Amino acid sequence: DALGPTVVIGEILVEIMALTRGNGFLEPIELVGPYASGAPAIFIDQCARLGGAAGIVASVGDDDFGRLNVERLRADGADVSAISVSPDFPTGSAFVRYREDGSRDFVFNIGKSAAALIGLTDAAKALFERAGHLHVMGTAFAIPGAWEMIEHALGVIKGRGGSVSFDPNLRKELLGQGQTQARFQRLLDLADLLLPSGDELFVAAGVEGEEAAVAALFRRGIGEIALKRGEKGSSFFGGDGTRIDRLAFAVTEVDPTGAGDCFGGAYVACRRLGMAPAEALDYANAAGARNVSVRGPMEGAGTRAELDAFIAATPRLP
Ligand code: ATP
Ligand code: MG
Repeated sequence: DALGPTVVIGEILVEIMALTRGNGFLEPIELVGPYASGAPAIFIDQCARLGGAAGIVASVGDDDFGRLNVERLRADGADVSAISVSPDFPTGSAFVRYREDGSRDFVFNIGKSAAALIGLTDAAKALFERAGHLHVMGTAFAIPGAWEMIEHALGVIKGRGGSVSFDPNLRKELLGQGQTQARFQRLLDLADLLLPSGDELFVAAGVEGEEAAVAALFRRGIGEIALKRGEKGSSFFGGDGTRIDRLAFAVTEVDPTGAGDCFGGAYVACRRLGMAPAEALDYANAAGARNVSVRGPMEGAGTRAELDAFIAATPRLP
């Protein structure tokens, strides 16, 4: 981390969860929350908890939902100086209820919340100027003004010798053909590290088949790929043809939200702290597994000591 913190741009939310499974919110049901949330916030919280220097550019409202998030990130060691506080709009929120089949119903307040108000403030510029790494998430594509900020941050951070990671986190249908596709392609051109899950590997490569997709991505200049495989664990692919597979940990899945973001935060933190790929995959698998075993989008994010204890105590899935 000598060059400076890992920085992410995007939404901070609270999540409020239904205690029972079922369809939607059409009658009074028991809810629990607010929980700190937002994919970039989960990523950066896990990064910071593992001891990686970390900061976030985001916006919250002047309310308890915002304070809960900012204080949580601050307590876990993240740089919160570039989180702006809107005097006019509330902190973003998501109500979530799992259906019997594991899919989810949501009620969102994001587009007209403080979360949509991120902008290139002086504090954001200052954070980019001392950053060593930019992590970009597909979810940021939906936030107005986020792309201009990503472009700015890419220029500043790459310009000072920093690196870039990209978690596409984007369904094929959302990618489209226009501007989003062009921005997606630009990130693939610039990314040192790609963190896809499932079909995102093929979407990114524009080729089906794992080996062919990985080869295509290395041809276009990606430095390294960490592929998330859910209960099958994860794999590292290096530009020199190296491949390392690591098994997942056996846990009871209570709340799958945030697994991929915890994996990413842990992987980036570990690699930037100088760990080899296999060790980084183990911490990232542990971070994802630990997080799904606890209710709340980032309640299972772990410190280095917590993840060491988890790894020592938890068997691997076959
Ligand atoms: P998300 O579902 O949050 O978008 P993702 O699809 O990007 O996540 P996953 O592969 O689901 O990523 O999860 C990331 C990592 O977390 C996996 O590689 C695995 O190590 C761990 N993980 C996720 N779910 C489980 C599970 N049920 N049991 C054990 N480990 C898990
Ligand atoms: Mg998943």
